[in-house]
Amino acid sequence: MMGLCFKCFEEGHFKLDCTNKVVCLRCKLPGHESKDCKRPRSPLPEEELRRSTAAKVARKDQPPRPSGAVVTHPPPPPPPW
Ligand SMILES: [Zn+2]
Ligand SMILES: [Zn+2]
Repeated sequence: MMGLCFKCFEEGHFKLDCTNKVVCLRCKLPGHESKDCKRPRSPLPEEELRRSTAAKVARKDQPPRPSGAVVTHPPPPPPPW
C-alpha cells in the first residue's frame, strides 16, 4: 500500500503530487470528494436486511467449517475521513 493516493486512489504517488481528478470514494465518480457526495450511503433495502438475518439464522444450524483450510483476506484500509 505504499504510495497510495487518497485523492484518485491510484498507486505510485501521494495526494499532494496528484494531478488526477478527485474521485469520490462513495460513488466512485470523479469530480467531487466523498464529503461532497450527493449520493446517500447505499442504504440496505429491507428485503436485503431480512435475507442476511435469515442467512445468519440458517448458518447456526449447519456445522462450522473445518478451520485452517480457509484463508481470509485482510480487511481493507480505513477510509481517509
Ligand atoms: Zn492521485
Ligand atoms: Zn460521490
